Amino acid sequence: MLQGKTALVTGSTSGIGLGIAKSLAKQGANIVLNGFGDAEGPQAEIAALGVKVAYHGADMSQASEIEAMMQFAADTFGRVDILVNNAGIQHVAKIEDFPIERWDAIIAINLSSAFHATRLALPAMKAANWGRIINVASIHGLVGSAEKSAYVAAKHGVVGLTKVTALENATTGVTCNAICPGWVLTPLVQKQVDAKAVAMGLTNEEAKKLLLQEKEPSMQFTTPEELGELAVFFCSAAGNNVRGVAWNMDGGWTAQ
Ligand code: NAD
Repeated sequence: MLQGKTALVTGSTSGIGLGIAKSLAKQGANIVLNGFGDAEGPQAEIAALGVKVAYHGADMSQASEIEAMMQFAADTFGRVDILVNNAGIQHVAKIEDFPIERWDAIIAINLSSAFHATRLALPAMKAANWGRIINVASIHGLVGSAEKSAYVAAKHGVVGLTKVTALENATTGVTCNAICPGWVLTPLVQKQVDAKAVAMGLTNEEAKKLLLQEKEPSMQFTTPEELGELAVFFCSAAGNNVRGVAWNMDGGWTAQ
């Protein structure tokens, strides 16, 4: 379905980003990976799916590095047809204790990076009259949780940016939508499980169960593969007129 298209997925060396990259690669899209840590393993996993893969290690908190990454993608594959703004970090603390440096980093990586990548991707998408911008927001783009001020503010911002991007391009073949996952058991969430286990003297399994119990009626984690299939739907012809939605995959979190 996506043969000949190129997808750039930010923060795709791990977790949800890697899951979405694999789902798009299975549909034939060439992939530009980004993120920290081991890049060779993820590159090999994508290449094994029979598509071309490239990697750029831009720090998504830096506008100049995002510009270099977008230029690299255009130089390597011609243009970016599918942009998945996924890179993100978390920090948990009450507002009065929240380190200023963590606030700034979360706003830069979780929100401003999506603005920068989007503004740089749009001209080529509009010229081709086809494009898909998929913002990985969160259920925290729709509801709040205590001790997550920067994350919740950034993710609500991402949902707002999604709507404006969709509206500004509504008469073109470029769509923009957000994905709002509940709990997904990636390194980002495992850190929160570990903190809960230490604070409450629980085993890993007990802490995971408690985390789910607090928020998710399904008592199940959403998987990167499930989120990848939602991204594939947004890229399909059936997604042509899906514009500016924030689509939950949250085990019933926000239905309550
Ligand atoms: P993760 O920690 O597994 O992956 C995060 C990715 O972002 C990694 O590839 C990491 O290297 C990259 N990254 C971090 N800082 C970066 C930077 N400055 N520059 C470039 N890359 C950077 O986390 P994840 O759970 O897969 O999170 C992916 C996205 O999904 C995030 O935006 C997160 O907020 C969102 N999300 C996660 C959950 C969840 O339950 N895990 C739920 C809702 C939304």
